[in-house]
Amino acid sequence: MKPTILVTGGAGYIGSHAVLALKQAGYRVVILDNLVYGHQDLVEKVLQVELIVGDTIDRPLLDRLFASHKIDAVMHFAAYAYVGESVEEPAKYYHNNVVGTLTLLEAMLAAGVKKFVFSSTCATYGVPKTVPIPEDHPQEPINPYGATKLMVERMLADFDLAYDFKSVCFRYFNAAGADPQGLLGEDHSPETHLIPLVLMAALGKRDSVSIYGTDYPTPDGTCIRDYIHVTDLAEAHILGLEYLLQGGDTTIFNLGNGNGFSVKEVIDTAREVTGKEIKAVETDRRPGDPPMLVGSSDRARQILGWNPQYANLKDIVTHAWHWHQKRH
Ligand code: UDP
Repeated sequence: MKPTILVTGGAGYIGSHAVLALKQAGYRVVILDNLVYGHQDLVEKVLQVELIVGDTIDRPLLDRLFASHKIDAVMHFAAYAYVGESVEEPAKYYHNNVVGTLTLLEAMLAAGVKKFVFSSTCATYGVPKTVPIPEDHPQEPINPYGATKLMVERMLADFDLAYDFKSVCFRYFNAAGADPQGLLGEDHSPETHLIPLVLMAALGKRDSVSIYGTDYPTPDGTCIRDYIHVTDLAEAHILGLEYLLQGGDTTIFNLGNGNGFSVKEVIDTAREVTGKEIKAVETDRRPGDPPMLVGSSDRARQILGWNPQYANLKDIVTHAWHWHQKRH
């Protein structure tokens, strides 16, 4: 029988797509999610796996969970992930992302579960010195969100040495898009991410979309990001899990397409995909945003055999558009 995977944050955006991929690959899945940002309706109607409602910081709950389920590995998505909010409320981020993850790791050790797939981020790099960014690029985060993820990366390296605890750590670039079948997609509240905000403007749910800064050192002055389809991210998680289950060593992988698109290019692509005008308003920079983040994912391709299927920005925006039309 296929192993059982505990997925924290499995009711959230990336976590839910990973649960769908796990199910399709035949794994048994248990979700732990506090439902602060996750969607119970998607778990019940689409994913149809066991949902335990609670926090990763709740050690007694974790101990009960590991005692009552034979968990083989954990995929850990549960985290706060708003860059802007992390600048304004760092305590909230250190508490949930760092203390919460440490509590989970300690509960895993106590239960003898030592395989862990972790959602990290390109925000751990800070302002890149070279592009595309390789995994050994210096990590100097410029916002608390990135700092919290980097702290967990350090924990994982130390846990491997001390406890033989094996992890795959994925540094995502900009997760975007939606399940190509339209079953799942991005639905944050509040929404802060560019592509959903642009599509909400296309749907008439918002008057316009803001362009945060037009004086960056980029060709059109707006920030450049490497958008990666959420289904391709989910597939990488399956490959990372299999790598660990087959005895793979602790490793860190970037997950991106290696192509950068500016904010203005994203808005233009959305205009093309939706056929709507989409009003864009140029505003000040958002604190904590590096000008350009584009990753090299050669290591994931070589070691995991990862091969993104939806690398085209138009596909990413098209799938997101189908989802937003359905959801809203
Ligand atoms: N952005 C923007 N307007 C918005 C939201 C985002 O111009 O309403 C920009 C943001 O400054 C960044 C890029 O779009 O350069 C992607 O931002 P997002 O919040 O989607 O992802 P992040 O890079 O913060 O993970």
